[in-house]
Amino acid sequence: MAYIEPAPIKDKENPFESMMSRFRIASQHLNLREEIFNVLKSPDKQVIVSLPVTMDDGTIRVFEGYRVIHNNILGPGKGGIRYDMGVNLDEVKALAAWMTWKCAVVDIPFGGAKGGIRCNPREMSSGEIERLTRSYTQAMNEVFGPDTDIPAPDMGSGQREMAWLMDQYSRSRGMTVNAVVTGKPLVLGGSLGRIEATGRGVMVSALSAMEKLKINPYKATVAVQGFGNVGSFAALLMHERGSKILAISDISGAYYNEAGIDINQAIEYRNDNKGILHGFKGAEQIDSDDLLTLPVDVLIPAALEDVITMYNADKIKARLIVEGANGPTSAKADDIITEKGIMVVPDILANAGGVTVSYFEWVQNRLGYKWTRERVNRRMDRVMMSSFNNVYKTSLKYNVSMRIAAYIVAIEKVASAYEYRGGF
Ligand code: GLU
Repeated sequence: MAYIEPAPIKDKENPFESMMSRFRIASQHLNLREEIFNVLKSPDKQVIVSLPVTMDDGTIRVFEGYRVIHNNILGPGKGGIRYDMGVNLDEVKALAAWMTWKCAVVDIPFGGAKGGIRCNPREMSSGEIERLTRSYTQAMNEVFGPDTDIPAPDMGSGQREMAWLMDQYSRSRGMTVNAVVTGKPLVLGGSLGRIEATGRGVMVSALSAMEKLKINPYKATVAVQGFGNVGSFAALLMHERGSKILAISDISGAYYNEAGIDINQAIEYRNDNKGILHGFKGAEQIDSDDLLTLPVDVLIPAALEDVITMYNADKIKARLIVEGANGPTSAKADDIITEKGIMVVPDILANAGGVTVSYFEWVQNRLGYKWTRERVNRRMDRVMMSSFNNVYKTSLKYNVSMRIAAYIVAIEKVASAYEYRGGF
């Protein structure tokens, strides 16, 4: 029998409310007109589709898919597609709004969007995921487009899914349209440097913040939560710059080594073991919750939203938090963290390296041209550093946290585009 699996119940803050509370604070600092506030708080478009898919055993299952375009005043909607059992409309709405702010913070000409399919890709065969991806793309045929809404990978999806998406969309148009999606395999018009871009941006943000806090990267200790695409590259690049990665974690648990973990070895182990660290011997296993409260200089949450909450925020000992994940700190934890004097490089700045290189990929596709890895990295580093400095300056000007400053930078830009365009 076909059925839609219910979302697991989470004892967590509603992510959309979490986003809204920061948005509200930043809007007050900016004296944003209420009309503009009301426009910006409502997503432009929300699409929910049912996706019947034939499973390998011959049964038909119906999955639920979402795409939310939060805003497209600065350009086409942009944002990843999440494949996860926790996907729900409020989460996708929050993630879409975060994409609007993220693109505005790093000043790329995109709006914000996000998609999701409620499924457990770990329990599905490659054929099942392919049929699901094609069915989702077909359902979103009128939503996606290189000038309207450009998807990309997110949790649970990667190059493989983006290739299917591009193929399905291209078939419907009768020609190859590679600019409809980013995060593609290189041979299909992907960009050099895209895979590691988010992790690299996290590293660049961390180093910029460490400079302000006078933390020497060669002496710094780091804990990284999440060892997927973002966390593993962030850990590797920090490790290569001389910092000691004391702890890493993934769904199999957390791993600690006082002498520092050999990140190359951990990545190799993960790649050889179905993508998880289970059984990794280069460190001792510790409780996953304890990773967040270790006495380290830098904490990089690079897994899920809502992991730093009002329940554990006061136990955090790091001096700097660099948010590789989207929304890892709940709104209620913000005050505790700020009170403790911990600097947070917020998600919409720290993890914007991914969408920045997505933008470069889209530019290359439209130019029919390929950039070298050096050019991609150099340009991304430049974008990340100047965005960091802009947010830092704004935080001093308004005497607010880096998070509220990032929202101020973003909202100011989007709001001023509305003021100029008008037409309501
Ligand atoms: N999913 C990534 C993010 O949350 C990348 C989005 C993109 O490249 O469009 O930033």
